[in-house]
Amino acid sequence: MVIPGMARFLASILLAAALLSPPAIAAGDHAAGPPQAPALPSPSLHIRGGLWFDGSGFRPMEWYAVGGKLTAARPARVDAVIDLAGRHVLPPLAEAHNHDMQNAFTARMMAGRYLARGIFYSAQMAAAAKDVAPFRGLLGGPGAVDAVFANAVISASDGHPLAMALESYEAEGMKASADDIRDNAFWSVDTPADLDARWERIAASRPSLIKVILIDGANYAANRRKPELFGRNGIDPALLPEIVRRGHGIGARIVVHVDTAEDFRIAVAAGADIIAHLPGYRIAAGKTAADYRIADAAIAEAARRGTAVVTTTAASRYAIERRPESAKPILETYADNIRRLRAAGVRLALGSDVFGGSVVDEIETVDRLGVIPRPELLRIATADTARLLFPERRIGAFEEGAEASLIAVDGDPARDLSALRRVMLAVKQGELLSGR
Ligand SMILES: [Zn+2]
Repeated sequence: MVIPGMARFLASILLAAALLSPPAIAAGDHAAGPPQAPALPSPSLHIRGGLWFDGSGFRPMEWYAVGGKLTAARPARVDAVIDLAGRHVLPPLAEAHNHDMQNAFTARMMAGRYLARGIFYSAQMAAAAKDVAPFRGLLGGPGAVDAVFANAVISASDGHPLAMALESYEAEGMKASADDIRDNAFWSVDTPADLDARWERIAASRPSLIKVILIDGANYAANRRKPELFGRNGIDPALLPEIVRRGHGIGARIVVHVDTAEDFRIAVAAGADIIAHLPGYRIAAGKTAADYRIADAAIAEAARRGTAVVTTTAASRYAIERRPESAKPILETYADNIRRLRAAGVRLALGSDVFGGSVVDEIETVDRLGVIPRPELLRIATADTARLLFPERRIGAFEEGAEASLIAVDGDPARDLSALRRVMLAVKQGELLSGR
């Protein structure tokens, strides 16, 4: 969202980002770039004295970081020894659902904060490709947060996030029509012909993730006739299998925003790769908790297909603030769904969907439900979520040849989760990060 008073500031950030971006961002295109500045050799570190998380508990280990990778073998040259002095060491945290680095302004504000919080991996779940282009080349690598973007969002012409976008323009005293937002903030698709007409442009934006909005899909036709739901609907569920087919054809993964339990079933059956929310972050008007209880058969199907589910339980705080009496059914439904998803072996990932918050809020919210043992929760927050976001990378575990990335916290997070809010030292891809 562009705020009028900040337009000049934002323009200067965009300009600075454009100037700082190496001209050749595309991988494998280095030959076209400027002459390389002489680089400092990457230091070889000996990291010892800590209690390291092995996926189920903490135990003493020591590692060398050589060329950005972990090894147990002592290298010929050790440049520095890091003594962790008994601190608890984990792979860095990962946030699988947020919207806080989707334009140059918020990315500039948040990127450093991610690292300071020990969160090295992030999924930005609704980012227009043109907004991300100026700065995405500045993210990633040893000194910066790694982000994956859902840089194509598909919704109905009267679908989410249209109402939200119109409301934010109005709140800022700006005029905008629905047509300013359609095919701009999201791709507006009501029919197979609409999808066809836009597909070339969607594919040209080379999305890593394509996010599809599904909201009470079982009542799609009836909901479109309700004026109070204008701008708050999702796509026709009948379109989903074709979107999945086309998305997979261009190497994108399909993330589906679901609302009800039936949406979850539809998305899994259509072949979605990632479900962006657990049903039940709100109980909508005219619905009860039962509408958000995922059927056992849908859970079994998600397990069979390897569909990943992002929890986003922390985001229920917005619905609970509006209607405090909804807290009990929302939290009970979460506990019931997560207990059965976990028992069935469905792949869970943690993401908060809280702007200004983080995956640590999500870890705390899931922990309070009492359905996932703490060591397993820490494994999901570090290993499972990070690998879901960057499946091609060796991250999320301390093992030979893995990326040398870690956070050392003050206290034992398996006993006291607040230790996760006290990151004392962080190494990313073999480089020690300093506080800024
Ligand atoms: Zn979201």
